[in-house]
Amino acid sequence: MKNGSGRAGNHGREPVAKFPIVSGPIPPLVSVIIPCYNAGPWIGEAIRSALDQTYSPIEVIVIDDGSVDRSLEVIKSFGGRIRWETGPNQGGSRARNRGFALSAGEYIQFLDADDYLLPGKIERQMRVVTGSRADVVYEDYQNLLESADGTRTWGPLDISGSQADMLEMMLGGWAPPPCALLVSRSAVERAGGWNENLTSAQDNDFYLRLALAGSTFRYAPGCKSVYRRPAVPTVSTRDARATDENVIRILDEARTNLLEAGRLTEEYKRAIARSYFRIARKYFDTDVAWFHRLLREAERLTPSVADGQSRKYRLVARALGIPEAESIRSLKRAAARQVSGAGEALKDNAHRVWPRQLPILLYHNVGPLPAEDSFNLTIAPEQFERQMRWLVARGYQTILPSEWVAARRESRALPGKAVLLTFDDGYADIVEYAFPVLRRLGLKAAAYVVTGRLGRTNTWDEAEGYPTMRLMTAEQVRGWAGQGIEFGSHTRTHRDLTTLDAAALEDEIAGSADDLRRIAGAPAVSFAYPYGRFSDAAREIVAQAYGAAVSCEEGTNNHATDPFLLRRTIVNRDDSRTEYFARLRLGRNPLRAAFKPYRIWKRLTGSIDKRPPVQRAGGFDREISKG
Ligand SMILES: [Zn+2]
Repeated sequence: MKNGSGRAGNHGREPVAKFPIVSGPIPPLVSVIIPCYNAGPWIGEAIRSALDQTYSPIEVIVIDDGSVDRSLEVIKSFGGRIRWETGPNQGGSRARNRGFALSAGEYIQFLDADDYLLPGKIERQMRVVTGSRADVVYEDYQNLLESADGTRTWGPLDISGSQADMLEMMLGGWAPPPCALLVSRSAVERAGGWNENLTSAQDNDFYLRLALAGSTFRYAPGCKSVYRRPAVPTVSTRDARATDENVIRILDEARTNLLEAGRLTEEYKRAIARSYFRIARKYFDTDVAWFHRLLREAERLTPSVADGQSRKYRLVARALGIPEAESIRSLKRAAARQVSGAGEALKDNAHRVWPRQLPILLYHNVGPLPAEDSFNLTIAPEQFERQMRWLVARGYQTILPSEWVAARRESRALPGKAVLLTFDDGYADIVEYAFPVLRRLGLKAAAYVVTGRLGRTNTWDEAEGYPTMRLMTAEQVRGWAGQGIEFGSHTRTHRDLTTLDAAALEDEIAGSADDLRRIAGAPAVSFAYPYGRFSDAAREIVAQAYGAAVSCEEGTNNHATDPFLLRRTIVNRDDSRTEYFARLRLGRNPLRAAFKPYRIWKRLTGSIDKRPPVQRAGGFDREISKG
């Protein structure tokens, strides 16, 4: 034992002596616990760094987690100077917990097998921990970048800094490597050890539980911890995704705990939202659906998600929404990547990351106009054909939901003037009056059918006093599938999804996908929400069962749009050519709202419009929400 460590380690319980102590209380034991899995090139350095500590007494415990490389050989070479165990591979958390169970130290140094400590690390932290009676001491850490050929360069020094509220920091995503910490045995016990159910992000989980259990943290400025990381990140995208999913799970759990304890303050909410948002934006280019889900979670916690961003970003986010701000950022990223490439490549890439806007038109029925059409659902066949010919003449190209999904997935640009035509409810008349027109003109469309009502009638509308209309049959669906018509699901019975429990949602959403696969002989690619009404729970199930879904929110779509809430605009049977054009360009019809009184007057006087007046039960809101 060194004299110096005797002075350092008097438990903090005795009064600090003003003169050097030659003999005194035995300083507390520190256990260094090193889990090792295939760390052959580094484990020796880690163990040596533990044995070379100036502090004493120290015990070094190495748990080999089923390594298949030369790790065990290296471990054994230390002979009686360390304790070690080996067994089948069961994960890092299990190995750390096993090491903890074997240990006797009053303080614990967890050390990953590829990191190492500088000699005075534990001595210095023991001085702080015993002086302050903190449960956890942490310091700065030095990044060491190592390439595949073993070349090493020093990376940045991460300054941990004194944090006012550790829990807030950890909810916000702060997670130093274990080597930078020294933890008291009782704090590890209170936190319940390491979570063996996690395959990654165990550190985040462990620290968060330390903080939740009320442990006190103390910052010891300075750096004697070396954190090794590959010079070029080698973690596969799949692993990175799994880690992020784990982090989200950990945060959700912490949030629930805090909420139940009545401790979920605004600060904690903001910190959690920051973490959600940070992870969300990593997936903007690769999994926009997840991006949107996390963004929604973040925005639910705090309205100021974008606060930490640049002024420009915040301006765009405020005016157009965060997805648009992300879109611009993504475009810039792509441009930066392409900066040395040809101009053409840049242009091409810009298209890929920000394809042109896709309008989606929503039709219901096409056929002879019923005597009374309070929902304005039916468009006359001549009118429909005029609109289709107009699209062709203007150079519009129809695409299918499956083509949109593929273009998104492969980051491909859409054709210049793309439009997606959709028909909701699957009326029998469209088979007679709309599909043949589409076929003749070489156009494609999506039809959303109610799989439990095929060959029957629109019972859901009849209940509201709407006239009975026939729905297409299963044979008709089978016959037209692949003939330019892509069938999607509009649930089994056209119920309002916001009123259903989980089991009913599963049945309506996933069940109708099964139906459609059976009937049309092809997987259902997309889904339309009945009445345009959706909830988070509904959207979740839709995202599991389909590649895309259409709502009745107005607007056009680009790759920043939530693919499970694509926007559509409802074509009215009395849309003028200008109004129709507005729907294509803007995804909405601003004239309709602005000139409504004028239009009503026009219709009442019959001065311009010769068509029979349309009775509008419920007015425009009714129309908009109709799906
Ligand atoms: Zn519908």
